Amino acid sequence: MNWTRNLWQRAMDLLPITGFHFDRPLVLLQSDDWGRVGVRDQEGLEQLRSHGVALGEHPYDFYTLETAEDLAALRATLTRHRDSAGRHPRLEMNFVLANLDFSRINLGGWRQIRLLPLAEGLPEGWSRPGLLEAYRDGIADGVFRPALHGTTHFCRQALERNLEGGGARADLLQALWLAGTPYIHWRMPWIGYEYWDPEKPDHERFLTAELQRDLIGQTVGAFAKLFSSLPRSACAPGYRANHDTHRAWAQYGIRVAQNGPGGCVPPHFDRHDVLQLFRTVEFEPATDPEFSLERCWIQAEDCFERGIPAVISVHSINFHSTVKDFRSRTLQLLDQFLSGLESKHSDLRYLHAEELCELVQSGFNGTVKESGVSVTRKKFTKARVWKRAG
Ligand SMILES: [Zn+2]
Repeated sequence: MNWTRNLWQRAMDLLPITGFHFDRPLVLLQSDDWGRVGVRDQEGLEQLRSHGVALGEHPYDFYTLETAEDLAALRATLTRHRDSAGRHPRLEMNFVLANLDFSRINLGGWRQIRLLPLAEGLPEGWSRPGLLEAYRDGIADGVFRPALHGTTHFCRQALERNLEGGGARADLLQALWLAGTPYIHWRMPWIGYEYWDPEKPDHERFLTAELQRDLIGQTVGAFAKLFSSLPRSACAPGYRANHDTHRAWAQYGIRVAQNGPGGCVPPHFDRHDVLQLFRTVEFEPATDPEFSLERCWIQAEDCFERGIPAVISVHSINFHSTVKDFRSRTLQLLDQFLSGLESKHSDLRYLHAEELCELVQSGFNGTVKESGVSVTRKKFTKARVWKRAG
């Protein structure tokens, strides 16, 4: 079964695909995990430490949740910058639309997962005055663009199975939940990602097409409730998406699939007419001990030389500040990074993924008048792109 699938995948990777190329530098900023709670600030941190969870080994031990002030500071940084058309950079924010409802889980005797939609607020013990308004203000400005991450980041069936299983894993979950923290992924990778259950046999790890379709339908509904609009771009939690995910996204109106870093793959349409976009620059100062601005600039220039967009990945943790100030350094670096790009390229353009999709659809083999960007089509094979990426 696996052997056939691998062979099939290798054959697909050798097939020529039509990729889109652009005649000027395009920059997209993509950011995951917005709306997802982590460690419940200083109080939650101390509570967990008193339960014997030795926090501090990994940046994600200090992942909390953005505040309205974090968003205001981010907005201020973005609005200081403009591209050649006078437009600000747009940050595509991929939202997790529900958190665990700890008090209802507790009432139910810790047996079943209960969710609290982000549109209805935050779990008991959490306080973030003005947060929903801060998201909406940035969206109204055009510097934030909401997109779909998931309803949960973890795989619900994996979490429930481990909860039922008892033992050390269930004890860890309970200690975290009592402190208002759903999970810390690096300490418990067995919770997987929304559409991907890591402890299943290889070919059963992705949830079935039907389950994924139901989940995606619910997630789109929760998004619409929160933002009064429908999502057009999506990124699967943990980048774990397969054809069933893409098909279900397409059925619910998603036009762009955001993929993780993996070589300089040109944007292209898949068999469901979803634009596949790959991240090409990892701008993650909070989590990358080797972070260097120089390297980010080199990666961006490499994209421009190939005529593909620089798609910058910057997760929400980089803007958090409540137990550890990741935000100040990130914003300072982001400011420098964008200034560097702007001063080197007088024809630079900032877009979000949906704008790129529109550009491709209306402009290939010609110039889209209002944008001034010319789009060309070129054949490539995934096998060759990945070989070159080494
Ligand atoms: Zn994520």
